Order: sequence, then C-alpha cells, then structure tokens
Amino acid sequence: MRVRAYRFRAYSSKTTARVLKTQLEAACKLYNTLLHAEQEEYEENKHTMNKTELRQLALDLRKQNPEFQVLHSQVTQQVADRFYQARERFLDGLANKPKKKKPYKFLSLVYPQSGWRLSNTRDAGQGKNKKKRRARLYLSKIGFFTLVVHRVFPESQVSQVCVKLNPSGRIHVIFLVEEAESQEHSSGEGEPKNAVGVDLGITRLATLSDGRYLENPKPLERSLERIRMLQRTLSRKKFLSNNWLKTKTKLAKEHEHLKDFRRDLFFKLGALLAQEYDLLVLEDLGVRNLVQKGENKKRRRLRLHDSSFSELRAVLEWEFRKRGKLVLPVPSYNTSSECFLCGGINQSLTLEDRVFHCPYCGFSLDRDLNASLVFLKRSGWVPPFWCACG
Ligand SMILES: [Zn+2]
Repeated sequence: MRVRAYRFRAYSSKTTARVLKTQLEAACKLYNTLLHAEQEEYEENKHTMNKTELRQLALDLRKQNPEFQVLHSQVTQQVADRFYQARERFLDGLANKPKKKKPYKFLSLVYPQSGWRLSNTRDAGQGKNKKKRRARLYLSKIGFFTLVVHRVFPESQVSQVCVKLNPSGRIHVIFLVEEAESQEHSSGEGEPKNAVGVDLGITRLATLSDGRYLENPKPLERSLERIRMLQRTLSRKKFLSNNWLKTKTKLAKEHEHLKDFRRDLFFKLGALLAQEYDLLVLEDLGVRNLVQKGENKKRRRLRLHDSSFSELRAVLEWEFRKRGKLVLPVPSYNTSSECFLCGGINQSLTLEDRVFHCPYCGFSLDRDLNASLVFLKRSGWVPPFWCACG
C-alpha cells in the first residue's frame, strides 16, 4: 500500500475561517500542554507515556478544560499522536527534541477517520476547465468548506482528511488515500533505451543534455523581485504593528504564489521528460550543498532559488518513478569544470564563465550543457552523437 495525497483549494465563510483559527490555537495549546505534562511525568516518575496514554491524557484534558472542548475528539487524539510521533523521531535520533509550538506555526488539523463528510459533488467548469468540479466538505465542529476538485480522486478510499490554514489566509484540504501499488511499473519494461542528463542552475533553470534548456520564466523572476521588495518593506515596519502584519500577509501570499508557480512548472517539465526518456541522470545534491556551504552575500540572495532545487529533483524523480522509469544520481564533484570530451579539468573556470573551454583538447561548449553531458558520461551512458562532433 502506498499513501497518496490529494490537495484541493478550499473556501469558507469568514465565520468558519475564524472558527478554524480558534481551533488551531486550541490545538496548539493542547500540544504544548501535553509536552509539559510528559516532561513532568518523566521527571517525577521516570516514565515515558506510550501512544494510548498520551491519547487518553489528551481526552482527559479536553474533558476538564472548556477551551479544548471546541476540538473534535478525533482531532484531539491526533494532536496527541502528533506529539507522540515527534517524540519517537527524537528518541530514534532522527530529529531534535520536541519543542513548544508557536501558534503561528501550528497550521493544520487532522481528522483521522470520522468527523468529516463530503457531499454535493458537482461539475462547475466550462470549456477548457470541464474537469473542474466543486464539492462541499463538512468538518465536524468547524463547519462547511467549498472545495475546488480539480482532479479525480477515489473518495471511498480516503483514510485521513487534513485542513490547513496557510499564513496568507488561504485554506487547503488534503485527502490521504491508500492505494495499491500494483498500477505502477506498467510502461517500464525492459532496459532503458534513451537517457537524459539534466543540469539544474540559477541563471538557467534546467539544461538538458540534448541541447534544450529552460530559462527561469519571467513571472518567476518578477515574483522573486516582489518578494525581495516586500522583505525590505517589512523590515522597515514596526514589529507586530498593524502595518507589519499586513505586509507579512502580503509576503506570505507572494511566497505561496511563487511556490505554486514553481510546482506547476516542475511538474510540466517532469511530465515532458518522462514521456521522452527512460532514464534521468541528475547530480547528487547532498555533496554539492556541502561544497557550497561557505556563504557570501551573493549566495544568500540566491537561497530563494536554492531551496527549490531539491523540490524540482523530487518532482522529476516522482514523474519518472510513476511511469516505472529510472532516476540515477551521479556524484557532482567537478562536474562543471570537467571536459566532457577528454575528461580534463579546467581549474580556471569561474562562476561567471558561461562557456566552457578545455585547455587540453580545445573543446568548447556552453557551460551547463557540458555539465549535463558529464552527468550522462558518469552514469555510463553514451551521449548523443551530434555533440561529440560539435
Ligand atoms: Zn577536453
């Protein structure tokens, strides 16, 4: 079984949105209370509470405290589960010790089994948007939401519903569906026939070893510029003042817009590549990040781009794996300064050089294209003929 998430935009009345906000605050407080109780219990009796005990404690707290009674009982238990999982991750050495959560970071509630009802699914799109449907979701104790169902999902197999309030005020509802894994690996029979190397970059989003490339689109650049501008504006406002809060919301909206735009772009690129190629060769990012750890001012400005690389990678991998195709990470050491033709290293290549010149064999090629070809070579694939002669 594999869990898949379906995320839809949700709309609600102002009252419902306010109720959701109050509940998030209550859930956050409950989480922190559990954390505190757990610490006390351990200090006094050297006893770590298990999942059932934590759940029971959460329910007891709800019984005693009218503030927590706004929460659905399932949601209450899920808050306990969330704390339990955080603590387990800490005990397994995978994460830091669970800390007190801040209300502005506690943004989602989960209904594990019941307490929600989907109804009145109907077609709403016209023409190009014909697939678009609307549905009404009722979350017990919160209220009604209208969902824009832009893709088909198996309603009957939903195992969990999560409602998320984004910092910008937008609401998303995420359905977790358990699906059998057998539908996969249908198209990927036999050996891969053609491979593509992809170099991800800042000036150019992606360069393919077949010579095509994808520039950073204009709307993306503009969005980045707006974010920088809003960040400057925010720093001039008085902390937590009304104007500060307003700018903060604007900034959150712009960040979300950027995130959505990128995701959409990444998925389109992924689908395109996975249709044409059987094998995707990428550089191993972990190593590269280590190399780039030394931060200077310019780097820091580029961090906005940096965080998206790992997402692009994840999306590309997902699109390939979904079709039963392969993704191969190769070591990224020296990729941009290595000559694709003879393997010589051009030590004098700087970040500003857009064209790669080989001092040993005289080969020259666009810098990123050379890098993507080096990836292919490292993966053991013979690159296409045309570049070997040009
Ligand atoms: Zn060379």
